[in-house]
Amino acid sequence: MHANKADFAGPPPIPYCIHVDEWPVSATGAEWMETLFSDTTCKREIMSQKTDEDVMNKTLQIMKRRNVYAVVSGRMTEKWQAVAPDRFIPSLLYRSDKNDASPDSVRKLFLSGKYRVFGEIMAQYKGIAPNDPSLDPYWAVLEELNIPVGIHIGPTPIGAPYMPGWEKVRARLHSPLLLEEVLIKHPRLRVYIMHAAWPMIDELLALMWVHPHVYVDISSIITDLSKPAFSNYLKRIIDAGFGNRVMYGSDQMVWPELLDIGINIIEQADFLTPKQKRNILYNNAARFLQLSKEEIDRHHGR
Ligand SMILES: [Zn+2]
Repeated sequence: MHANKADFAGPPPIPYCIHVDEWPVSATGAEWMETLFSDTTCKREIMSQKTDEDVMNKTLQIMKRRNVYAVVSGRMTEKWQAVAPDRFIPSLLYRSDKNDASPDSVRKLFLSGKYRVFGEIMAQYKGIAPNDPSLDPYWAVLEELNIPVGIHIGPTPIGAPYMPGWEKVRARLHSPLLLEEVLIKHPRLRVYIMHAAWPMIDELLALMWVHPHVYVDISSIITDLSKPAFSNYLKRIIDAGFGNRVMYGSDQMVWPELLDIGINIIEQADFLTPKQKRNILYNNAARFLQLSKEEIDRHHGR
């Protein structure tokens, strides 16, 4: 999840449509934004929180009620951690822009223990592929220090290149195969694909087959896509025998309810066994993150 200020996606409250059944159609790319923002067919809309405090407090409320522990990145990470240190595993965001920490600073930050995970790597939003040379020094440091990494490979906002700030987004960057040479070059790297590289299911299964240590998370696709689109996608991963490498993610940004809505979707999925649900909601992440027995016990109140 992310820890963001309330105005992260624009002046609050910002709507979020749960399970879009049919996306609007635009006459041309130039008219896409107008078309999208005037669409009123959403069946279940939630609104973002209005203040920074509300985003944090509502998120924490749900985390306590559902016993959630979360990898968290974003501008408010330190503040949230100060309020609830035992709930969060801090992660360092990477945006592929001038504000990113250099590879040397990344090394120092991780050696200092300030962060435990590197991500979300948001290079895809800048049109930059996982195998781009700009990322290579980072992969090397993260491999050397045994730091788990999450990289966004999958959906960006629909019609992104026709919206300001996302002009460099391209459909071909959904391909998880762009990660393959990175995996070969850095065999000890621990990496997970955020958003499970939707909709490239065949490429994803090939990648998971050839590289049996790559995990995925199901954040955003679990709440954005129509119910059948998400279920069919997850089912393909499960049926292929890779259910022990799928991790729950909420992509909570300024909509705390996403946490609850997503957990309910997994709990109610009729194609998952209770064990598979438990693996997706906890066990797979605990293994991927190499949590200690003490930390796992603490999460279970033992
Ligand atoms: Zn993402």
